[in-house]
Amino acid sequence: MRYFIWGLFWIGVYLSLALFPCLILLYGSMPGGYGFWWDFSMALGFAAASMMALMFFLTARFKRAALPFGVDIIYYFHKHISLLLFLFAAVHAVILLCTEKVVWEMLRPEQINRYMAAGIVSFILLALMVFSSLWRKQLQIHYDNWRLIHAFLAVAAFILALVHIEGVGYYIATPAKRIIWGAIMGCWVLLLLYVRLIKPFVLLRKPYKVREIIPERGNAYTMIIVPEQHQGIDFQPGQFVWLSMYHSPLSMKEHPFSISSSPEQKGELHFTIKELGDFTRRIKDATAGEPVYIDGPYGAFSIDRHPSEHGYVFIAGGIGIAPIKSMLSTLAGRGDGRPHFLFFAGSTLDKLTFYEELYSLQEILDLKIVCLLEHPPPDWAGESGFLNSRILQLYLPEHLQELKYFICGPVPMLELAERELHKMGVPLHHLHSELFDFV
Ligand SMILES: Cc1cc2nc3c(=O)[nH]c(=O)nc-3n(C[C@H](O)[C@H](O)[C@H](O)COP(=O)(O)OP(=O)(O)OC[C@H]3O[C@@H](n4cnc5c(N)ncnc54)[C@H](O)[C@@H]3O)c2cc1C
Repeated sequence: MRYFIWGLFWIGVYLSLALFPCLILLYGSMPGGYGFWWDFSMALGFAAASMMALMFFLTARFKRAALPFGVDIIYYFHKHISLLLFLFAAVHAVILLCTEKVVWEMLRPEQINRYMAAGIVSFILLALMVFSSLWRKQLQIHYDNWRLIHAFLAVAAFILALVHIEGVGYYIATPAKRIIWGAIMGCWVLLLLYVRLIKPFVLLRKPYKVREIIPERGNAYTMIIVPEQHQGIDFQPGQFVWLSMYHSPLSMKEHPFSISSSPEQKGELHFTIKELGDFTRRIKDATAGEPVYIDGPYGAFSIDRHPSEHGYVFIAGGIGIAPIKSMLSTLAGRGDGRPHFLFFAGSTLDKLTFYEELYSLQEILDLKIVCLLEHPPPDWAGESGFLNSRILQLYLPEHLQELKYFICGPVPMLELAERELHKMGVPLHHLHSELFDFV
């Protein structure tokens, strides 16, 4: 309930901030309007500009604002609301082009002034951002490069939009409105400075260092880090952090990883990282003492956020076991007596990271483990193939609707598990999923 109320509060803050500039413009004397379509188009333009500013707020990872939703949900919101923002900017331009001859005049090469040019370039940059984000993988843009391009385009598009608004000056001509508008712009610039400079500097002052790298099944490595001359972080089992290594936090080269250890294990953090690309392939070569910076914890994928009287069901595919291992170790550390279930899928037995450790947890926990292999060895006595409703029904108890579910793995597995469990009567608010991909 507490998270729900805070969630409503932050939604209210978002809507107020998005609409604030439009409301300010309505205050006091209004310039002679050109009619409904003109005013409507301007309102869309201003709303698009405030939404652009709020994009920086959404990705600033303010812990209090992220807490009720989980930062992953905020990133999805950021991704989808940007399409609405783009639509607002596009409709703003289209309405003017369709209803105002004067706009066509202003766009003629010999007539165009720098404010109109700023608006057009800002719109083109926005279009490039949408295009490169939606089709990044198809365009084969490396994630790190995409992130730098994205940040550059975002700042440039936003500054140009401000130049456009300031230059056109149509609704902000009175001194009072100019002051308010200037203050709003000042806040946005401060936010940008906080995200890109102040926050990374704070992280620099709280370094960690690598203590050990442990090879695991499934091309994965567990990296153990310890805080250097500070207390470290408090986290809930299942949460994740952004981790920078080999670069300073100022470089914007950071990667999200779930903490695979339990918060009960004070003084160290474990990350279990599967080799996938440039960064994750370097983990195995990290030496003891290598500095690491972490920003977090984040995320709502945690048993501590979703208490359950009757026990938990964990469904993991591949390296999706990392946050689940944290939750199971925590339950074991707390001496939990409720019955729990783990469905763990992988292609072969060597790919099941933590296989032995998970079975050893059965000595402490009431834990039923069901391993599913896509390519089982000839003597395999467990389940094979992909997860399906038959397997879920076979192993889950009759009161399966009362249990809480944590699912982490590849998209098809996640979708299938959510769909089938919901069909079996599990309410949606009992299903919690984590996807290892924001973009
Ligand atoms: C909430 C969350 C928790 C995660 N937890 C784990 C974990 O416990 N163990 C684990 O092995 N992996 C985890 N991942 C995935 C991990 O972040 C990526 O595998 C890693 O960043 C890939 O980096 P790379 O340079 O090696 O590969 P690349 O080849 O650069 O990237 C491969 C793909 O990983 C994604 N990716 C790359 N960099 C980032 C980034 N900075 N932010 C977001 N996505 C990125 C992109 O989709 C990219 O296409 C998690 C991801 C998320 C979102």
